[in-house]
Amino acid sequence: MDPKQFRTELLNWYQDHKREMPWRGEADPYKIWISEIMLQQTQVQQATPYFRNFISLFPTVYDLAKAVQQEVLKAWEGLGYYSRARNLHAAAKMVVKEFDGQVPDTYDEIIKLKGVGPYTAAAVTSIAFGKPNAVVDGNVIRVITRYYGIEDDTRSSKTRRQVQELADELIDKQHPGDFNQALMELGSVICTPSKPKCDSCPIQAGCTASKMAKTDSIPYKSPAKKKPHYTIGVGIIERDQDGKILIALRPNEAMLGGLWEFPGGKQEDGEDIQETVERELKEELGVEVKAYKELTHLKHTYSHFSITMHAWHCKLLSGEPKPKESQEVKWVATDDLQKFPFPKANQVLISKLVN
Ligand code: SF4
Repeated sequence: MDPKQFRTELLNWYQDHKREMPWRGEADPYKIWISEIMLQQTQVQQATPYFRNFISLFPTVYDLAKAVQQEVLKAWEGLGYYSRARNLHAAAKMVVKEFDGQVPDTYDEIIKLKGVGPYTAAAVTSIAFGKPNAVVDGNVIRVITRYYGIEDDTRSSKTRRQVQELADELIDKQHPGDFNQALMELGSVICTPSKPKCDSCPIQAGCTASKMAKTDSIPYKSPAKKKPHYTIGVGIIERDQDGKILIALRPNEAMLGGLWEFPGGKQEDGEDIQETVERELKEELGVEVKAYKELTHLKHTYSHFSITMHAWHCKLLSGEPKPKESQEVKWVATDDLQKFPFPKANQVLISKLVN
């Protein structure tokens, strides 16, 4: 199949089969940009309600630029990868200040914005401005390696460069936005990781993996390194006089930065978990506490590690909590906890406390 036929078959298929999404057909570059940032590490289904809510809260780049960071993080709560929200907020300010409120329309300019990498730069400039920049995400890698029969490790940057070059050659210069979305859509619904639906695929006639029955072995990805696991102890300190609970605001530059949490940290060798909680609260807040009863424990997996978090009720013995390792600490009524943005693992603790 020559590249021209590839484009025609793919675009015809896309016209007939594309799924409805709230950002599809959208002409506003700001909204396209938001959708692409959300879709970086999130499935369409999960991103959809977040996108609608985000756009209703911040309908223009000016609204986002003038919002306070806590509002932006609250709107992102539960989506994960919170640096996306912080970067988006910073980038919106930059668009207002340096680009007169207009999302930059060239790859070289838009990639200077915080949180915009090669994928997002290509996606936004092609979809919003019709620039012939090919996107390469996991779906595109799968379709292209199978189509061309590339058996090399897709973790290697050499293979990724090869896929990018092939995508750059294939892209339809008249309809680059549709072409990019069509290739990603094909990878998402037809050329799926397992059991691809080759008989329904518009480019099957030219596909090497399908012809050679190699869809199980292509794409090849070398095994990931094992993720480390940490045991974490956190303290729920309730104030005697009014029952308010202490929360701390994580430093902006840290992982989950700008979100609130119950203070605590990693268990050290030889400690039992109560000792961890008591030591951590002394280091983080400068207070002496007694961890007296476990509220709950739970497991949570992040992109590069997993944790078991033990939450303990604590009695404050002495000292006034200070933000020694956080931006701020606050006493909050249990019913008000949900007004603050928290990481997902902490949400479970909040539900337990509220109930
Ligand atoms: S023919 Fe099968 S393996 Fe090839 S691109 Fe289509 S769905 Fe993927």
